[in-house]
Amino acid sequence: SGRFSKPAEKKTGITFADVAGQDQAKKEVAELVEFLREPERFEKVGAEVPHGVLLMGPPGTGKTLLARALAGEADVPFFSTSGSEFIEVFVGVGAGRVRKMFEAARKAAPAVIFIDELDSIGRTRGTGLGGGHDEREQTLNQILAELDGFDGKEAVVVLAATNRPDVLDPALLRPGRFDRHVMLSLPDKAARRAILGIHARKLPLSETGDLDTIAAGTPGFSGADLKNLLNEAAINAARRSDDKITGSDLQDARDKVMMGTVRTLAIQP
Ligand code: ATP
Repeated sequence: SGRFSKPAEKKTGITFADVAGQDQAKKEVAELVEFLREPERFEKVGAEVPHGVLLMGPPGTGKTLLARALAGEADVPFFSTSGSEFIEVFVGVGAGRVRKMFEAARKAAPAVIFIDELDSIGRTRGTGLGGGHDEREQTLNQILAELDGFDGKEAVVVLAATNRPDVLDPALLRPGRFDRHVMLSLPDKAARRAILGIHARKLPLSETGDLDTIAAGTPGFSGADLKNLLNEAAINAARRSDDKITGSDLQDARDKVMMGTVRTLAIQP
């Protein structure tokens, strides 16, 4: 069963400076850095810091990035898994994996656990084909049990990400579980410019490669889309055997990513 589980990252090397925009979300998550750095300080005065944080927002807005940045800022190990890894595994396997991951994180504490795509396991129970006794439900129950098992002192912060908070089992959102909610949103023009800036740092842009223009022309693009756009533009430049990325490379890449987005949206139910 170790086949799917990722080894913990000892150091993510990611900081809040790597996350552009999302100021409110960063602020809320940053409150946990001090706790992870010096849990004793909080324990001494009997302060119980929330363990479960739900990151909500559209795909590609930086939920995973923000979770890794929290671990990086606090300089603690990062354990991660995705809800989609628990689909179609044998009964008991998912729950076992969850248990092992929490056990490892508790041993390594202070630590951060990240569960991506929580909705793929955390949907309202009792609606599965297995009449409510399916594998997914066991995995979900294990996550609930682990969250309930924290004694308030263990310095393990559990972040989970979803773009479908509406389908989550309300049991996940109860006090002591994922009771802190942080919203991430699609970037506005200034944030898009900042995201482009971060990902273009190491790219050779020609004078025509103006990121302000691209930021203005990409409403609705997520951070992930913008990163894709820059990569597409670099591929364009390489195809032309150019060593600089030009304005038209960027425009062509923008159109391509936009078409891709349109197509993806069109096939969704
Ligand atoms: P999903 O819901 O699809 O899992 P997500 O919200 O977790 O997406 P990430 O996986 O963190 O999004 O984002 C994908 C990539 O897009 C990141 O690795 C990062 O390079 C880039 N990115 C997204 N948002 C930002 C941002 N605010 N600042 C800088 N880069 C970003």
